[in-house]
Amino acid sequence: METIRTDVAILGAGGAGLRAAIALAEANPGLRIALISKVYPMRSHTCAAEGGAAGVIKSDDSLEHHFNDTVGGGDWLCDQDAVDYLVQEAPKELIQLEHWGCPWSRELDGSVAVRPFGGMKKQRTWFAADKSGFHILHTLFQTSLQFPSIQRYDEYYATDLIVDDGRCQGFTAIEMRSGQMKFFQAGAVIVASGGAGRMFPFTTNGAIKTGDGMALAYRAGVPLKDMEFVQYHPTGLPNTGTLLTEACRGEGGILLNKSGRRFLQDYGMGPETPVGKPVLKTMELGPRDRVSQAFWHEQKKGNMVSTRWGDCMLLDMRHLGEKKINERLPLVRDMAVSYLGVDPVTDPVPVRPVVHYMMGGIDTDISAATPLPGLFAAGECACVSINGANRLGSNSLTELLVFGRRAALSAAAYLGAGVGAANDAALAARATEAQARLRELFERTGGTETIAGLRKEMMATMEEHAGIYRSGEGLKQACATLADLRRRYAAIELHDKTNVYNTDLLQALELGAMLDCAEAVTVSALARTESRGAHQRLDFTARDDAKFLRHTLALYRPEGAPAIDYRDVVITRSPPGVRDYSGEQK
Ligand SMILES: Cc1cc2nc3c(=O)[nH]c(=O)nc-3n(C[C@H](O)[C@H](O)[C@H](O)COP(=O)(O)OP(=O)(O)OC[C@H]3O[C@@H](n4cnc5c(N)ncnc54)[C@H](O)[C@@H]3O)c2cc1C
Repeated sequence: METIRTDVAILGAGGAGLRAAIALAEANPGLRIALISKVYPMRSHTCAAEGGAAGVIKSDDSLEHHFNDTVGGGDWLCDQDAVDYLVQEAPKELIQLEHWGCPWSRELDGSVAVRPFGGMKKQRTWFAADKSGFHILHTLFQTSLQFPSIQRYDEYYATDLIVDDGRCQGFTAIEMRSGQMKFFQAGAVIVASGGAGRMFPFTTNGAIKTGDGMALAYRAGVPLKDMEFVQYHPTGLPNTGTLLTEACRGEGGILLNKSGRRFLQDYGMGPETPVGKPVLKTMELGPRDRVSQAFWHEQKKGNMVSTRWGDCMLLDMRHLGEKKINERLPLVRDMAVSYLGVDPVTDPVPVRPVVHYMMGGIDTDISAATPLPGLFAAGECACVSINGANRLGSNSLTELLVFGRRAALSAAAYLGAGVGAANDAALAARATEAQARLRELFERTGGTETIAGLRKEMMATMEEHAGIYRSGEGLKQACATLADLRRRYAAIELHDKTNVYNTDLLQALELGAMLDCAEAVTVSALARTESRGAHQRLDFTARDDAKFLRHTLALYRPEGAPAIDYRDVVITRSPPGVRDYSGEQK
């Protein structure tokens, strides 16, 4: 097996991975950086982000407001020291992107425009029309090209972290074009592999969001933190799950039930205000967990519009007018027309909640370091945690910039402090073991299970039992089904035994990662006998700070369910309080 020696190997070339690569190259031009991605970097999910990135910039706003919105939005499960770091660094990162060429939308006077976003009580979401992620990713990508020390490995699929001498020293990856396995030997590894929404059937997430990096770290002994917190975004197209950004509501769009009532007023999200008034009561700008939960209740009451794709609410943007929709929400209009045949200029668009984001992920501290020396993580795959029990829209793009950079600085410092000499023979042996596991899967015959069959069962289980509302009974059933699916996974057989772009093999590996992540979600959810943020239990309806103001840590066990442990949340100055969204959004 070929060994590629590098100082830092970055697993993932989306927003977090690219930002980390640039920060490393800037911090120390002498470092060799390998940037590995299973897709061409511009196809990473960051490209699909629409609404924008949060950072304080206007004079009526403050870091304190951003801190309070984020901590309250996260139902007090955020580590407050990490949130402080996020809000302080956010404006610097967004201005840095501007200097690298990101075309942020502007006010008429030329200053940066910001838009309202859910749970943000001040306007602080920077945007580039409704293609913010596309422009951010292009900006990072083109900037990364300036640095000869960043060596890209596009279309390489990472399979195993290589740990020796108690520290992470690289990972193995399949070169998809040839089917060859390579060993990226590195002094430090940064995982920036994105989310895992594809374990659910109805999601905004791109097909590549299968939790690979989370599973790799988990199997290497790093806990997955707060996995029970899965975010539903309230407004997905009902047929495809394609996201219609929260910016639709930020720009003034409203949500109606089948009687034309703005039903959110019945769920603690502010009294009704005249439509089209520039200053809205919180209402449609409530946080995503609350809005999705309100949908669930209205659905139970039979107040939703039935469509051939299930019950929907109506997202009405007609009063915004064609000019504003074209200027601020061109992609939304395009997608609603293309995928659903509904033009938001003339008709309300049916939408329903859709799985969108993982609050949980690889356990890291505020410096993006995991408990495994040499391993760092940033972006959606990581749990720092700044999102707590419910992420506020537009904090994720900011998080991957702030903590992508922070992971790079921590990795550079770790290397600077000196790591011991590598034991090449031991590393080669570990890499060969990883290769042997893959070969066994590749050459297996007589398998009785199919990838598609197991994936379908996993998705159905997650949708039925780990959705917006959960119960102990349902979660128990989900845990049992997932344990069974993990067992049956050992009996899958590949149909394609060729080497070049073997997508059968990749899908098998992705399914393995999703099954591990899914089990961590359901076991963590079953153990959390309270309701907080995106984790709502029908059998434990109240938040229980005495018992659960703690992060869940799921620890991998090769046989059987993960072990669950807890760690206290870092509270610096905001004690748990009541989440109030009845006030005015400015
Ligand atoms: C439709 C949509 C709209 C969104 N809009 C917003 C928004 O407006 N504002 C906001 O703040 N957030 C938004 N989010 C969330 C946000 O975009 C994501 O959380 C964020 O972009 C994730 O970035 P990342 O760098 O962590 O991962 P990604 O951009 O997903 O990149 C992951 C990288 O890891 C690589 N990778 C994964 N597994 C492997 C493997 N096994 N081997 C090799 N490489 C691998 C991939 O190839 C990819 O390069 C949105 C999300 C979606 C889905």
